[in-house]
Amino acid sequence: MLNEALLSINQATTREQWSLPEAVGGYARQGVHGIAVWHDKLREIGLAEGARLLREHDMTVTGYCIGGLVTATDHAALSAALDENRRAIEEAAVIGAQCIVFVAGGLVDGSKDLVGARARCLDALDVLLPEAKAVGVTIALEPLHPMMCANRAVLTTLGEANDWCDQLGAGGELGIAVDVYHLWWDPNLAHEIGRAGPRIVAFHINDWLEDTRDLRLDRGMMGDGVIDIPGIRAMVEATGYAGHREVEIFSSRDWWQRDPDEVVRIIKERYQTAV
Ligand code: ZN
Repeated sequence: MLNEALLSINQATTREQWSLPEAVGGYARQGVHGIAVWHDKLREIGLAEGARLLREHDMTVTGYCIGGLVTATDHAALSAALDENRRAIEEAAVIGAQCIVFVAGGLVDGSKDLVGARARCLDALDVLLPEAKAVGVTIALEPLHPMMCANRAVLTTLGEANDWCDQLGAGGELGIAVDVYHLWWDPNLAHEIGRAGPRIVAFHINDWLEDTRDLRLDRGMMGDGVIDIPGIRAMVEATGYAGHREVEIFSSRDWWQRDPDEVVRIIKERYQTAV
C-alpha cells in the first residue's frame, strides 16, 4: 500500500467542475490533504481567503501553477511576464506552496529563434531566483513534452533542465518537477533522474493514452495508458525523493466531464493499483 498521506491532486484535474473552495472541500472529504493550486482559481476568491481555506482543511500545497512563460521578445511583454511571476511568487509564499511550477514559454511573435527563447528564459530565472529565495519559495523547472515546444515550453527534456540548474548555480530556491506525461519517452530518463537527485521537488502522475487526441488536454488516468508509472516512481524515489505523488490530469473529453467526487474516488483506487 502506498501512503495515502502522500497523495496530492492538482486542481487542474477537476478544474471544470470545482472552484478552489469546492476542490479543497471535495478532496478533504475523501481524505486527500495534498493539493496543487492554480492562480486563476486562487484569485477568484482572493489570496487571504484562499490561504485561510487551505489552512482550515489542513492541506499541503504541493505546487502553485504556474510561473514562467518568459520567452517574449518584446520588452514590455517580457517586463509584464516578470511582474506576473513576482505576483505568483508572493502568492506561493503566502499559501506555503512547496514550489512554484515554472513552464518556460514557447516561441512567440512568429519567431524561429529557439536558442534566443531559451536564453531569455535563463535570463529571467537569473532575475527571479533571488526574489524567490528572499521569500522562501522554490522555483521548479518543469520540462514539457517536445510536442509543446512551439507554443508552451522551450524546455523539453530533463537533461536540459539539469543543464539549466548547473548553469544557474542556485541553491534550494531552484528545483525540478518531474511529470511522467512529459518525460516517459526519454531514453535517458533513468540517467537524468539520477542526475537530478535532490533537485526533484515535485512528482506529477497521470498517463499517456495510446490514442491521445490532444497534446495538452487529453491526459489519461493512471493505469489507462502506456507509461510505466511504478517504474518511474521507483527511479525518482531511489534518489531520496520522499514527497507527494501529485495527480495532474487535463482531460477535456473524459475526466472533466465526470462527477468530481467520482474522479477523486477513482484517483484513490488507481493510486494503489497503478502508481
Ligand atoms: Zn506537471
